[in-house]
Amino acid sequence: MDIQVDLHTHTVASGHAYSTLSENALAASHKGIKLLGMTDHGPSMPGAPNLYHFGNLAIIPDELYGVKILPGVEANITTHEGELDIPIRYLAKLKLVLVGLHVISYPGGTSEQNTEAYIKAMKNPYTDMMVHPGRPEFELDLERIAHMSAQLNIPVEINNSSLSSKKRGARENCRRFARYMAHYNGPVILGSDAHFTDRVGEFGHALALVNEVGIKEQQVLNTSPDRVMDYLASRRKNRPIITHT
Ligand SMILES: [Zn+2]
Ligand SMILES: [Zn+2]
Repeated sequence: MDIQVDLHTHTVASGHAYSTLSENALAASHKGIKLLGMTDHGPSMPGAPNLYHFGNLAIIPDELYGVKILPGVEANITTHEGELDIPIRYLAKLKLVLVGLHVISYPGGTSEQNTEAYIKAMKNPYTDMMVHPGRPEFELDLERIAHMSAQLNIPVEINNSSLSSKKRGARENCRRFARYMAHYNGPVILGSDAHFTDRVGEFGHALALVNEVGIKEQQVLNTSPDRVMDYLASRRKNRPIITHT
């Protein structure tokens, strides 16, 4: 399986990542990545950029070092209702909206509350893809998420960084989640979640898991830039029309 797209990478703008977009794009070009998502953390995370960052992304060139660039966000779920930390008028203009749960931004809760928050965020018409459900900080009903991913046709990430994490439970959760994704046949993305340039385009752990559990190549969206761009375009067609600014 050839992964030509890395949708989940961070730059210095995230506060706890250490490479620039240009450095990440150069690394991506060396690894054969053709489309690169720049998804810095949403503003509720300490050290993350404020809304001005997300309002000015149109100045970023479409291509760097021969790699197409998709500027976006990794938005934070902030409540049990699945609300996000970026207003809709900003989300509406972003080319890529990843959504996940992170400490500090999200208050935590029971497995049921966390799962409900995650699924409500999946149903948000401005959400494109969900990230790292396998991270062990918040307990989630991983089977229900895999089932909803297939029902809603919302891709959920198998995160290469979670799989190389030493955090207790991370690898086991990811393995369990990947098995459910194989079973329910929902759309999958592989993400590097790079916080430094050398991790960009690294999918070794995620690919090994995909093969181990039998996730089909057809399920994996980021095997080609065209598949990703077609999905993002179709997602935008279904959005409600905004009546406020
Ligand atoms: Zn981060
Ligand atoms: Zn994250």
